Amino acid sequence: MRQAKDHFFNILEKTITQEKDENLGLVKEVRDGVVMAIGLKGAEYGEMVEFENRSLGQIIDLTEEQVGIIVLGDYQSIESNQIIRKKNKQLSINVSKDIIGRVIDPLGNPLDGLPNYKKDKDYPLEKIAPSVVYRKPVTVPVETGLLAIDALIPIGRGQRELIIGDRGSGKTSIAIDTVINQKGKNLICIYCAIGQKASKVALLIETLRQHEALDHTVIVVANASDPVALQYLAPYTACAIGEYFMDQGKDALVIYDDLTKHAWAYRQISLILRRPAGREAYPGDIFYLHSRLLERACRLDEKYGGGSLTALPIIETLEGDVSAYIPTNVISITDGQIFLETDLFNAGIRPAINVGISVSRVGGSAQTKAMKQVAAKLKLDLAQYREMSAFAQFESELDEETRRFIQRGARMTQVLVQDLYQPLSLAEEVAIIWAGVNGYLDNIDIKKVNQFKKEFLTYLHTNYQEIIDSINKQKVLNEKIEKSLKDASEKFLSIFQENI
Ligand code: ATP
Ligand code: MG
Repeated sequence: MRQAKDHFFNILEKTITQEKDENLGLVKEVRDGVVMAIGLKGAEYGEMVEFENRSLGQIIDLTEEQVGIIVLGDYQSIESNQIIRKKNKQLSINVSKDIIGRVIDPLGNPLDGLPNYKKDKDYPLEKIAPSVVYRKPVTVPVETGLLAIDALIPIGRGQRELIIGDRGSGKTSIAIDTVINQKGKNLICIYCAIGQKASKVALLIETLRQHEALDHTVIVVANASDPVALQYLAPYTACAIGEYFMDQGKDALVIYDDLTKHAWAYRQISLILRRPAGREAYPGDIFYLHSRLLERACRLDEKYGGGSLTALPIIETLEGDVSAYIPTNVISITDGQIFLETDLFNAGIRPAINVGISVSRVGGSAQTKAMKQVAAKLKLDLAQYREMSAFAQFESELDEETRRFIQRGARMTQVLVQDLYQPLSLAEEVAIIWAGVNGYLDNIDIKKVNQFKKEFLTYLHTNYQEIIDSINKQKVLNEKIEKSLKDASEKFLSIFQENI
């Protein structure tokens, strides 16, 4: 019986490897979600295949004798000598505008219990990034609604800005605040959860739903318990969905949360494929993997539709070590970094952004005029504060000017503190910074700064709504607006001081 079976497989193998049908292959070995196969002549990198159990796979390794395939689904029932069929197309995802508001897996299958979305176009997961000819400088801001970012580390549409920090330092919260703030701002958000706990992702989806942010958001999920192949593919799916909207002339934002786990998934696949391991056991092409992905973010020239794709990758560090392999790689690929620090987080400075070392290399040109007008002074105040704060402990011996710098800086640092899910509009941000840099907060007790900020904004909305409206509309501070702001600040300050 056994002999007969072996004989049969020998014939099958011969048919597949030597005969005509190039689309057929044979499973030779199954290793933890990665299949080594023979046959499949003319196979191309990234091509899609189907197994006997209907699971899909993607070719990611080609040698003279064998083909390495990652299985995108159930691999438990794949056995050696099963037949594989090549689909003759690159792995791709079906996209349409109906995908907005949905939660899907990296293959486009719904995870939200709703029926399949209507399909419009096939988008390949891997695509070569647009060359310089197609691109245009980044000039339009992504308004995050977070004071610290919009003022000091502005992000432009088409930029790649990294959010980096230790576990629990508030990385995801920054991304979610940004998504919530995009209501009515013509920016389609794609949140990609890679290798996270399912319960965390469920909570996050619920938060977005509560803040009515799902109407402009797509969520791509590959949880920690999903096959590594899916975790590896998730960011490409998210990027392909973003490209679909960009190609229609729209603006899209993709959040990769996080690329550290993506690198782990890829490392696992590479080790199973027995590729040589390099630094920290990552394969040699891990840098290329991430640069290829992030390079796809761009702002297209008007001739090519004028759409944009902004990327906000997230990286988790260990004990703030940014010199580890994956953080250094991604830092060098992106156009700027937002550094989050656990010490600041614990001291109550949340978002815990270290504004001293965080940068945005293209964002400045994407800031509105009004924001630029107030942010310049804010930057200076904070820089002077950082320089002087080392002397803060000798306060009694300090000269008047140094003391003033320290007082101002400490208050401005508090102004940048912001509660979760309470994004501010451009005018609100400009107004509060204006009041701060013009000294209206200097005599307020540090503990009361947050209260001042909240009440001042409420006061403006009730008594000076026209200031808010005109800043939001004209996006510039002219003499008239500044005069009204001065008027409002003086009146509010005296009311505030009376009441405390
Ligand atoms: P992980 O590494 O586990 O993914 P993370 O860096 O993404 O964590 P978050 O999940 O965003 O961090 O935040 C950690 C905790 O800090 C959450 O409980 C969140 O509610 C809280 N938090 C984050 N930002 C703020 C803020 N601005 N104000 C108050 N609490 C905050
Ligand atoms: Mg997180």
